[in-house]
Amino acid sequence: MSGEGGAGLLSSLWSFGRNGFSFLRRFCVLEERRCACCREPFFPEGKAVSRIFCPDCQPCFPRREAGFCPYCGEPFAVAAAPVVPCGECLQKLPPWNDFLFYGIYEGELRELILRGKFGGGLDALHALGLLLAEICTDHYSAALPPQVIVPLPLHPVRLRKRGLDQCLEMARPVSESLGIPVRTDLLRRVSASVPQSTLDRENRRKLRQPFAASPEAAALRILLLDDVCTTGATLARAAECLLAAGAASVDVLVAARASRHSVPSGSEAAPHALP
Ligand SMILES: [Zn+2]
Ligand SMILES: [Zn+2]
Repeated sequence: MSGEGGAGLLSSLWSFGRNGFSFLRRFCVLEERRCACCREPFFPEGKAVSRIFCPDCQPCFPRREAGFCPYCGEPFAVAAAPVVPCGECLQKLPPWNDFLFYGIYEGELRELILRGKFGGGLDALHALGLLLAEICTDHYSAALPPQVIVPLPLHPVRLRKRGLDQCLEMARPVSESLGIPVRTDLLRRVSASVPQSTLDRENRRKLRQPFAASPEAAALRILLLDDVCTTGATLARAAECLLAAGAASVDVLVAARASRHSVPSGSEAAPHALP
């Protein structure tokens, strides 16, 4: 009996020690972090959304998994609706292959994007990049992955004003997670400093294409990254430009999708358009 009691005591001590060690390890490894939304401290773990936001803020960042067009991401009024092509895509498909996005351009996701864009919030852009990195690792586990990431270039004048390139900053965590480089040399904005009235028709047409692509884009599978997609027109011009330079394919990745059929409340274009 006493032998059994001793063994039981030893086993309890061993188990206590192991649990204590695992608790300490957990405590040391899971470094406390500040929530990217409310800035309160919390212990990150699990999926990207729970590594970036505290448990109270996580529900404010729902990933859109249904109720959108698979080709352009156009969101439908009912979030639980099936993933089916929208009217526009049934008539004409966009120039890119896959369209990936995290959520709808509204609520806290919109606030985070605006903070990253205008508030110089590097932490906000890093958080968005981590959400996008998870979208990509999920998607490309079953699809041919891209070889390079091209952030949609800012116009140099805007870049000077803002002091930071939001798409480039968002691309960094995606690059790290997919193990592919970010290439800012493959696509650039074409300067429109010449008054269009002084140009002939051909040069005016060229200026309407706001991008120019490098011949080095040839044969590459490209992931084009932007923060928000509304009509998709700018992304389409960029994708067409890369494809015209010989890119093998272009996939699009954006943090948020706004509907092209409604002005999102409080959008940059119309901050007080809706009640
Ligand atoms: Zn929070
Ligand atoms: Zn569509």
